[in-house]
Amino acid sequence: MQRTQGPAVGVAEHRARVVGLVGATPVVRRPVADCLGLALAEDLVSPIPLPPFDNSAMDGYAVRAADVAAAAPDAPVALPVAEDVPAGRTDSPPLRPGTAHRIMTGAPVPPGADAVVPVEDTDRGTDVVRVVAPARLGAHVRRAGEDVRAGAVVLPAGTELGPAQLGLASAVGASALPVRRPPRVLVLSTGSELVEPGRPLRGGQIYESNGVMLASAVRQVGGEAELLRFVPDDVAAFHAALAPRVESVDLVLTSGGVSAGAYEVVKDALSGHGVEFYKVAVQPGGPQGLGRYPTASGGVPVVTLPGNPVSAMVSFEVFVRPALRTAMGFAEVERPRRTATLMESLRSPAERRQYRRGRYDAGAVTVAPVGGPGSHLLSALATANCLLEIPEEVTDLPAGSEVSVLLLR
Ligand code: AMP
Ligand code: MG
Repeated sequence: MQRTQGPAVGVAEHRARVVGLVGATPVVRRPVADCLGLALAEDLVSPIPLPPFDNSAMDGYAVRAADVAAAAPDAPVALPVAEDVPAGRTDSPPLRPGTAHRIMTGAPVPPGADAVVPVEDTDRGTDVVRVVAPARLGAHVRRAGEDVRAGAVVLPAGTELGPAQLGLASAVGASALPVRRPPRVLVLSTGSELVEPGRPLRGGQIYESNGVMLASAVRQVGGEAELLRFVPDDVAAFHAALAPRVESVDLVLTSGGVSAGAYEVVKDALSGHGVEFYKVAVQPGGPQGLGRYPTASGGVPVVTLPGNPVSAMVSFEVFVRPALRTAMGFAEVERPRRTATLMESLRSPAERRQYRRGRYDAGAVTVAPVGGPGSHLLSALATANCLLEIPEEVTDLPAGSEVSVLLLR
């Protein structure tokens, strides 16, 4: 299929196609420690309450509040210390009235005790303790279940698993979690002009940059990237590079070779091989393509990005990142969005959604464009912390306008 004619496809439509094409990766169980940055695939239900048992919030003495009600600095109450209860003691001998148990933070509060007197309010006695202040009923006792009830959903499906979430999962006893397997992405850079950084450049050559950029973007989302950087503008070489690797990946992401010139290797190689090429109503990144590269197992998703580095990166942000986040099962697939006051005027093409690189100032809630609209201006992209999103129907934005921005970091 090839469609070069006709109206441009809208941004939302193309994004939906990419999301639908990539789909979701299978659910696997991974050790909790290996789940950082992944999305939880099913609700996590706690089989136990947290805390699991009433325990002491302080180092001190477990008592009956009534026994120390009259305690004061000039009238200490003396109680025999019947037990020593360090954290980790698993038996819990009951507290007899008129006695105390020496107890440490995290140790189980014995049956019969209803308060903990902090060590600071005592003489720290080990046989007999003198208590110099009364204790409120329930003082310094952490109640079973006050954090988490048994049977409660502690983390809903789709939650991004960061340090706190992995800590909570461990606290409720999970050793492994269901997550969607990180998508494996083959990042393939095309262009006979591309040279490996570190080697000398000859006239007409440039250093390959999209490969590292896109592979890093994949990894930042939590996917795995395999990088093929120097595929020349030659259809046979393109197929030879792709064919042996395509079966082992979930997505092939190419850059370059899709615009209107001659030697458009991606277009030439994949037209008629299940990939459709068309224009999307976006700037930068108009020429896009997607489809399935035929394989024995029913075809592997291919998304073809334009070669200009800024176009490639903006296309990744707008179309591919949401698809990879969806594939991984994240509840939140969008970048955080803000409305900010534009610091200088901008022009934008009619009937195309423009993404400009900007610097967002969270304190002043302003945004300043960096660099021009040119899609080769990689240094401006590197100083940007947001994309300004200028709607299709807007052609002139005066300074002081409110504009929507997507935060990149
Ligand atoms: P193309 O879409 O292949 O015509 O490429 C458009 C522009 O992006 C050209 O100036 C290419 O040299 C440049 N370009 C394409 N691929 C890369 C890449 N991997 N790294 C750096 N620049 C690239
Ligand atoms: Mg090229």
